[in-house]
Amino acid sequence: MTVDASPPPFSKPYWLQQLRRSSLVILVAGISLATLVLMHDLKLSSAVLVFFCIAGVAMVPLQMQANMPARGAGGGEQITEGMAVRAVIAAMPEPTVLLDRVGRVLHLNAQAAQIAPALRHRELALFALRSPEIIAALRDAIATREPQRATYVERVPVERWMELAVTPLQVPTEFGGIDNCFLMTFRDQTPLRRAEEMRADFVANASHELRTPLAALSGFIDTLQGPARDDPKARERFLGIMHAQATRMARLIDDLLSLSRVELSAHVRPEARVDLVAILRQVVDGLEVLAGERGVVIETQLPEGPVFISGDTEELLRVFENLIENGLKYGASGGRVTVSLTQVSPDEGTPEVRVAVRDYGPGIAPEHLPRLTERFYRTDVGDSRAQGGTGLGLSLAKHIVSRHGGRLLIESVFGKGATFTVCFPPFKSRTDT
Ligand code: ADP
Repeated sequence: MTVDASPPPFSKPYWLQQLRRSSLVILVAGISLATLVLMHDLKLSSAVLVFFCIAGVAMVPLQMQANMPARGAGGGEQITEGMAVRAVIAAMPEPTVLLDRVGRVLHLNAQAAQIAPALRHRELALFALRSPEIIAALRDAIATREPQRATYVERVPVERWMELAVTPLQVPTEFGGIDNCFLMTFRDQTPLRRAEEMRADFVANASHELRTPLAALSGFIDTLQGPARDDPKARERFLGIMHAQATRMARLIDDLLSLSRVELSAHVRPEARVDLVAILRQVVDGLEVLAGERGVVIETQLPEGPVFISGDTEELLRVFENLIENGLKYGASGGRVTVSLTQVSPDEGTPEVRVAVRDYGPGIAPEHLPRLTERFYRTDVGDSRAQGGTGLGLSLAKHIVSRHGGRLLIESVFGKGATFTVCFPPFKSRTDT
């Protein structure tokens, strides 16, 4: 069927079927003509002439099929190049290649041509593929006619984890026979792998964060039961530390639960009308004690009247608590944290409500800025832990803000403080839309 060394292009059963059909026609014609001659209704010479005509016509389909290899030399596609097959391969969303029984490319879609540009129509795929895993899978599939799978990593232009499936399949040919082919499909597993890695990292980080205070607690319990049993002073001090560690654990669990709650409702925009000014005042009032302890003044530049957005009050309280508390903790040396709200009108650009929390502390080095909203990312782990931080505050803030249809911007000049700006779309009632 395909080229030179390949076996005949049409299947044996079909060939036999066709031969049987032609023989039957010839036999019936022969008997009918002989009857007519015997009954003296037809001259023998005429009957012989008619018989050869009928026999010739009956042999035409066989002759046509026998000629097929000559026309198809150089490619098995004569048989399998049905328009439907081509259309199906082209429409496959994943890179897909149809190969003949020895692994020559019959069809490939644009996605396949993109990931394996060396694949050529009618040429052996084995010579065009680089990854040893693909080559082995393809070889095994051709040798065993069993489905094969392989995973491999593409390094350029970007690292991608790919999964290959080679599936043997039988493609009906134009003449009713069957052609043994292989379907090679590639699937990009990179997003799945990344998600798996992130999940594994997250679990590892969370357990590590929980284990640290837990280890401290059990260490102090041992000390209190042993050497410090009769030392009231040490007991007092250790109980204080244990309380702080237990608080940190509780906070971590709180943050983890909030994060998973926010993630679950990530695609549902809160619709309640909330006053941002009231929320900011409530947070600032709540943090006055901490500000006093840190020797920091919180300055507010807020409008007199309310400013409404669509939001969830509890979640927004959480965002601004985190941002202002961070300013008090990490920017305490600046002695001042400002909280301001501005409204961008449609004439000035995209209408937005912007809340900026600015501190005048040491700021954040530029290399940390893009990673600050990652879970458990800190510029200084020891400092964060000493401040009772969990490393989840900014990640939580980012998730909440994006659920509100907003953006979190972080700007900092190292040594000159940091500004965290949250931008929200202005309030729109359902009837506005
Ligand atoms: P944490 O619970 O550690 O405070 P966050 O997610 O709120 O976690 O913050 C992540 C890290 O970002 C902090 O550990 C700190 O290193 C840095 N950071 C956050 N806010 C500031 C700030 N205002 N100034 C300097 N560094 C900051």
